[in-house]
Amino acid sequence: GMPAAPPPVLAERRKTRQIRVGKVLVGGDAPVSVQSMTTTPTTDINATLQQIAELTATGCDIVRVAVPSQDDADALPAIAAKSQIPVIADIHFQPKYVFAAIEAGCAAVRVNPGNIRKFDDQVKEIARTAADAGVSIRIGVNAGSLDPRLLQKYGKPTPEALVESALWEASLFEEHGFHDFKISVKHHDPVVMVRAYELLSEQCDYPLHLGVTEAGPAFQGTIKSSVAFGALLSKGIGDTIRVSLSAPPAEEVKVGIKILESLNLRPRKLEIVSCPSCGRAQVDVYKLAEEVTAGLEGMEVPLRVAVMGCVVNGPGEAREADLGVASGNGKGQIFVKGEVVRTVPESEIVETLIDEAMRIGEELKGA
Ligand code: SF4
Repeated sequence: GMPAAPPPVLAERRKTRQIRVGKVLVGGDAPVSVQSMTTTPTTDINATLQQIAELTATGCDIVRVAVPSQDDADALPAIAAKSQIPVIADIHFQPKYVFAAIEAGCAAVRVNPGNIRKFDDQVKEIARTAADAGVSIRIGVNAGSLDPRLLQKYGKPTPEALVESALWEASLFEEHGFHDFKISVKHHDPVVMVRAYELLSEQCDYPLHLGVTEAGPAFQGTIKSSVAFGALLSKGIGDTIRVSLSAPPAEEVKVGIKILESLNLRPRKLEIVSCPSCGRAQVDVYKLAEEVTAGLEGMEVPLRVAVMGCVVNGPGEAREADLGVASGNGKGQIFVKGEVVRTVPESEIVETLIDEAMRIGEELKGA
């Protein structure tokens, strides 16, 4: 059939240089990628690879591992070799680990400007080694580790301070003809963070890595990141994202993917359209929505499933979806593409929806 028109987006993506993080392109016309970071000790190679496999299965595009010691650096070759997605080594202080990470086959290295001053005489060598290996670098500015010089100049980690720090470090690499980097200017406050990225986007065309740092536990962190990324992505700013949560990293990936799907920056897969319920509801909508969501988790085809509490607005909404249920009088009317295909007792709603979803999924896959 006719290829469907791409779904609308809120803004054209900002034009950025494109860099390579292993097999994943970042910036330019590449899709916005989703990153996370392992929480296992990097020295525990098996546990780290296990977590990377889980992240990969969840849809993570790029993974970062912390390299605080020589033992961690020693684990990098095995991790980089076996990971299915590109590995970024996160290095704060030590140039020797930067060289070790490049040697180990890591796709990229993250360095922190608050600390690079200590080794800026080695930037030339880092730039040359990275360029020769095709390794890109993330310049990761964090409010918490801002260069003391800038902290003094601005009094606190303001958006201007974060941007000046990032551009200063960028200039150190640019001096040596190295431009394969992306930049982050993270802050825990979404307002400061958004302003910082806006300023940065006006002053350079490097791809930007979005992050709200120390965003908090899952609920608060999800909201802070969604609001901040939404504000930026809706203006076309942002080339790769990492949602930071005090929660397992696979949760970060799920949130990141949903943010991109919500903005049509990534094709939507399973989408549950459930009503908030109200005094008209004749069924436990929360429970129904949760059971349907759980039953369909991991569906790899685009499918919008409506779960409606009553027959007042229910059928109308259910018709807009690929599949849906509108409940009433202890029964559920099951809709497929706007037509009632069955009416089942309440106790059979969940399994009927899941059966129908699987059937439609098979059809879509076969198409
Ligand atoms: Fe209320 Fe029915 Fe709308 Fe759900 S679908 S919010 S139960 S009116």
